[in-house]
Amino acid sequence: MGDTISGMTLTEDLMSLYQVDSQLRGLRTRVENATDLLDARTRKLQRLKAEHEEKASQLRQLQAQVANLEGESTDYKDRIDKLRSELNASTNDKQYRAILAEMKSLEALRDEIETTQLGEMEKIESAETEATTMSESVDNQSRLCETARTEQAECTAAVSERVGELESERSTAAGRMPDAVLRIFEEVAELTEGETLAPVIELSKKDRDYTCGACHVTLPYHLVVNLHAGDTGVQQCPNCDRILYLEPAEAGV
Ligand SMILES: [Zn+2]
Repeated sequence: MGDTISGMTLTEDLMSLYQVDSQLRGLRTRVENATDLLDARTRKLQRLKAEHEEKASQLRQLQAQVANLEGESTDYKDRIDKLRSELNASTNDKQYRAILAEMKSLEALRDEIETTQLGEMEKIESAETEATTMSESVDNQSRLCETARTEQAECTAAVSERVGELESERSTAAGRMPDAVLRIFEEVAELTEGETLAPVIELSKKDRDYTCGACHVTLPYHLVVNLHAGDTGVQQCPNCDRILYLEPAEAGV
């Protein structure tokens, strides 16, 4: 096996870089997930608040309408009361009938207003119930947002400390590696979201049947030979591009 300056083999160097790289990616993913959760909950909270606000303004409109109807109804009542005293003071039959007819038509109009008013009051009642439910949803969602915000802050704090350490470990591990290999590692790490390495799986030594431990494609035999020789740099899976390595038993260590 071709030893590097540090005394570690290239595979060992790749392994240690892979491990620290995975840990870093894992921590960053945790923060990303916590941030995504917070964002999603915040968006939902905004939506619920908007819905509640809309319902509240609908409720205010209904209340204003009912107040108007109330005013109209009072006006009619005043006019009817006035007509009633005119009726009592009327001196002839024709006048009496005319006043009575007007009173009746005003009363009919007032009844109509009161019917409308009752309908509007029912709408207010159901809008109030809906507004209460919506307000509870907003409160619940606010609590969920707070939980997510706390988790995200804690996660970020916990991770940032460890990320600092890991980043320096990573650059140490990366520094042990030939530039060309490091470039390949970075490329494959990006491509595979950190699943950079794959073991060679030996299905049959006799049949020279080997597969990639990640994507299970059959590997050309010369790749396995090169890996055993250990002095031709890294070998990549022709299908998934991952950097191949031999399990310790396989490598004869
Ligand atoms: Zn593969």
